[in-house]
Amino acid sequence: MNADPNCIFCKIVAGQIPAKKVHEDDEIVVFHDIHPWAPVHILIVPKLHIPSMVEVQPEHAGLLGRMMALSPKLMRELGVTNGFRHVINTGRDGMQEVMHLHLHVMGGPRPWLKG
Ligand code: AMP
Ligand code: ZN
Repeated sequence: MNADPNCIFCKIVAGQIPAKKVHEDDEIVVFHDIHPWAPVHILIVPKLHIPSMVEVQPEHAGLLGRMMALSPKLMRELGVTNGFRHVINTGRDGMQEVMHLHLHVMGGPRPWLKG
């Protein structure tokens, strides 16, 4: 499925609802989390509607690699100089709230709200 009309992140990808975007290319959009846990908390989101890591297939390996590989550049641009943390929540037991795959990247001076 390329997009799900009821999915909040598909709506952000389509520009139907606003987000504080920090990066966009053909495959990926990145924006600030609306409820940040850390001084800098971004979400790296594939434009393709993949509900979660459960649905990831071997052909998505390049896309997932590009999502990961974007993070150091973006954190540097956002002024994070002392390390950061990646999180992907998957499914109910993984406490996933938005069923569109996304990579949390959090950084900035502690203390953080959580994480
Ligand atoms: P997860 O539990 O991994 O599914 O986390 C979903 C994340 O998306 C949460 O940290 C939310 O704060 C964030 N979120 C939900 N809606 C929006 C939105 N419209 N813009 C930015 N972040 C959002
Ligand atoms: Zn979606």
